[in-house]
Amino acid sequence: MSRIEMVISDFGGVLTTPLVESFMAIQDSVGISPEQFGRALAESAAVTGANPLFELECGRITDDEFTGRISDALEPILGHRPRFREFGLTFFEALHPNPGMIDLIREVKRNGYRTALLTNNVREWEPMWRSMLPVDELFETVVDSGFVGCRKPDPRIYELTLSRVDLPADACVFIDDLEINCEAAVDLGMKTIQFRETAQVRVELHQLLGM
Ligand SMILES: [Mg+2]
Repeated sequence: MSRIEMVISDFGGVLTTPLVESFMAIQDSVGISPEQFGRALAESAAVTGANPLFELECGRITDDEFTGRISDALEPILGHRPRFREFGLTFFEALHPNPGMIDLIREVKRNGYRTALLTNNVREWEPMWRSMLPVDELFETVVDSGFVGCRKPDPRIYELTLSRVDLPADACVFIDDLEINCEAAVDLGMKTIQFRETAQVRVELHQLLGM
């Protein structure tokens, strides 16, 4: 077994406030319920053969193409074509940094550990999410689904991250708010912490790293 050398963190919902607030802002801006948004995603996936959110996060469609596909699916449900104002802008207006987790990443670095960011994200959103925190100060490596063409929980994006940082899986702790993303990391041999709240992650990380 390797000694832990690196902490790999998710972005949305870990280093930020919960994403559900952003999705609520999107739904409110168009006047739809979460159920209708979910139905639109499912119907678009059935018609096009791919979940549009996954396509967006893998950089295979743009932000505009995404809202186009969602509008196509919502039109018959609503009886009119919804008006999306800039999707990314609405999303980020409702999202805020989590200063407790940002401090914890700094503490990890002060204690001599390496740090990387592994995010399911959107190409065109890079300037918006990067402006929320000092990314290059906090992380030596960023792996962004929108630029590498696959997304968590696909094992390939974890393997790509490990090859970029040149470490075995068991030398890494992975933090993510989604259980499915943590499970994929466990399957590859990483230690994982599922984010529920900052204090809980701090306790678990201190235990794992002996800080
Ligand atoms: Mg997340």
